[in-house]
Amino acid sequence: MSEKKLNIKLKIWRQSGPKAVGAFVSYNVSVSPDASFLEMLDELNDGLERKSEIPVTFESDCREGICGTCGLVINGEPHGPMRKIATCQLHMRNFKDGETIYVEPFRAKAFPVIKDLAVDRSAFDKIIQAGGFVSVNTGGVPDANSIPIQKEVSAEAFDSAACIGCGACVAACKNGSAMLFVSAKVSQFALLPQGQPERQKRVESMVAKMDELGFGSCSNTYACEAECPKGISVRNIARLNREYFSAKVKSKNVEV
Ligand code: SF4
Repeated sequence: MSEKKLNIKLKIWRQSGPKAVGAFVSYNVSVSPDASFLEMLDELNDGLERKSEIPVTFESDCREGICGTCGLVINGEPHGPMRKIATCQLHMRNFKDGETIYVEPFRAKAFPVIKDLAVDRSAFDKIIQAGGFVSVNTGGVPDANSIPIQKEVSAEAFDSAACIGCGACVAACKNGSAMLFVSAKVSQFALLPQGQPERQKRVESMVAKMDELGFGSCSNTYACEAECPKGISVRNIARLNREYFSAKVKSKNVEV
């Protein structure tokens, strides 16, 4: 028995380079409902290459929601219409036969378009390089029980550490704010004993780098939490604000 395919109209943002003027280009695809969204784009690109046309540039790596590389705005929503999944975990069965789907890159000042649907998210790497790590001496692996941590605390830190750095929070925010990302990265260390030695310096450096790179301010719309594929909570943003204020007071660097 032949599989019923979905006929989809695509309107894909094509832009030949960072400074080129982009526009939506229409394509028709016939695809299995069981195909993932990225497999659908693979099929589109196979067809374009067979016609000697330039394939659509988009990013992907693990294709299992872990690496944070994929990221498209689908029908106006980062990672598409389903909650708590990355673009690579979205399947075509979530769309209707005959539907028109708009596909765009993440749009934010700090994430310039490289080509078509691929954007430069190295700003996130620069924020991590500014302090999103713990400095530890190498050596033998310590006993797991040598630093007791309350279950509730370790669970909260683990939830924060689930951030995959995809950037959907920035794309979802009308201000292009990176507060959810930065707050998750600050929280995962601020909650644990291992993060204490560099706690103050970390939050000051990461927030300064975030501001320097052109991310906007948080105005508490919670769009970031709604679109986050890992369900990172805005509670982290409240913690980031407390961490930042506390660090500024301790360094006697508060502007009044
Ligand atoms: S907080 Fe969520 S949306 Fe933002 S980078 Fe992390 S995983 Fe992606």
